[in-house]
Amino acid sequence: MHRNRLLPLLVGLSLFFLLCGCGVQETASPAASAQAAAEASSAIQSSTSYVFAMDTVMTLTVYGDDALLDEAEQTIQDLEALLSATDEGSEIARLNAQGSLTVSDTTLELMTRTLEVSGQTGGALDPTAYSLVRLWGFTTEEYHVPSQAEIDAALEAVDADYVQIEGNTVTLLNEAQIDLGAVVKGYTGALLAEMAEESGVAAALFQLGGNVQVYGHKPDGSPWRIAIQDPSDASAQAALLTLPTDCETMAAVTSGVYQRYFEEDGVRYHHIMDPSTGAPAGSGLDSVTILCEDGFLADAYSTALLVMGLDDAVAFWRETGGFEAVFIDEDSAIYATEGAADWLEADSFTVIGRES
Ligand code: AMP
Ligand code: MG
Repeated sequence: MHRNRLLPLLVGLSLFFLLCGCGVQETASPAASAQAAAEASSAIQSSTSYVFAMDTVMTLTVYGDDALLDEAEQTIQDLEALLSATDEGSEIARLNAQGSLTVSDTTLELMTRTLEVSGQTGGALDPTAYSLVRLWGFTTEEYHVPSQAEIDAALEAVDADYVQIEGNTVTLLNEAQIDLGAVVKGYTGALLAEMAEESGVAAALFQLGGNVQVYGHKPDGSPWRIAIQDPSDASAQAALLTLPTDCETMAAVTSGVYQRYFEEDGVRYHHIMDPSTGAPAGSGLDSVTILCEDGFLADAYSTALLVMGLDDAVAFWRETGGFEAVFIDEDSAIYATEGAADWLEADSFTVIGRES
C-alpha cells in the first residue's frame, strides 16, 4: 500500500532528493533471501507519507501498522510548534522575545542536552549562534554580508553560558537569542524511532531532509542503504552507506554547506556559523555525516564537527567515541572513520583509524 497524503509535495520530491544531505536508496532484495523472509515480506506491507515541516520535505515509511504514520506526523507538528525559532508562538520564539520563560519538559530536555554538547565540543555547537544566523539573513532570506563591526556587536550575545536554567525556567543573559535548528530534526528522528519500537511495527524509515533515522529490519531482509550527497553537485551522490542488518536503529545525519547558502560578489556564504569568528564556518569541510543510534547526538555532532574542521573533528571522534563519521572536504576528498568505512562505498576514500 502506498499512501500519499500530501500529493502536491510529490511534485517537489525530485527537488527534495537534490536538496537533502542523505538520501535513502531502495535496493533489490538480496539474492539469498530466505523463503521465510519472502513470506513475511508479502504479509507486511509498507506505507509512506510525505510531510512538510521544519522547512523540510519529510518522507515517513512504516513496514507494518500504518497508524504510526499519523502519530509520527502529529509528533513532528507538535515539536515544530514548540521549538521553531521562527514560529512566533513557539516556546523558543517566546523565550527569545521575553528573555526568560518557563518551558515544557521537552524544550528543557532538548536545551539541556544541547548545552551539554556545546560544552563537549568547545562551543562549536552553540544555540546562541542564532544572533549570527539572523545577522547574516538566514532567518528572513534577506541575506547580508555584515561588516566586522556588526559581527563584533552580534558576537557580544554569543556564548552558551548566557543560557541559564533553573528548574524549568530558562533565562537568556546579554540579549542572547537561541535556536535549536541544529538539533531539532535529529531529536525528532530519535523520538520517532522510539515510537516505532513501542508501536510494534517491523521497521520504519524517517527521512527528515538530511536527517535519516531507521528502525528495525525490513521484512525482505535487505539492508538500509543511505546515499551521501556530493556537496559540489546537487544531482550526484558522493558515497553510499549500507548499514549492517543487525542494527536495531541508526541515525545518519548530514550537515552540509550546500544545504542553505547565498552568494554575493562570487563568494558563497552558508548557514553554519563558527561562533568563534561570527562568520560561516570556513573549516575546509563541505559536509559531515554522523552515524550513531541517537539521532539527537548525530545531528548535534554533524553541525559541531563541520565547524571544527577535519583535524579537530578526528581528535574529537578519537576522544569521545560512540559514533562514526564521513567527512567530505572542499576538494571533494572523502574521509571515513574506521567503523563508517566498513559500510561505505565511494570511488575513493581515506580511512581514519582510532590511533593517531
Ligand atoms: P544543521 O543543518 O543540523 O547543521 O543545523 C544548521 C542550523 O543550525 C542553521 O541553519 C542554524 O539555524 C543553526 N546553527 C548555525 N550555526 C550553528 C552553530 N554553530 N551552533 C548551533 N546552531 C547553529
Ligand atoms: Mg545538526
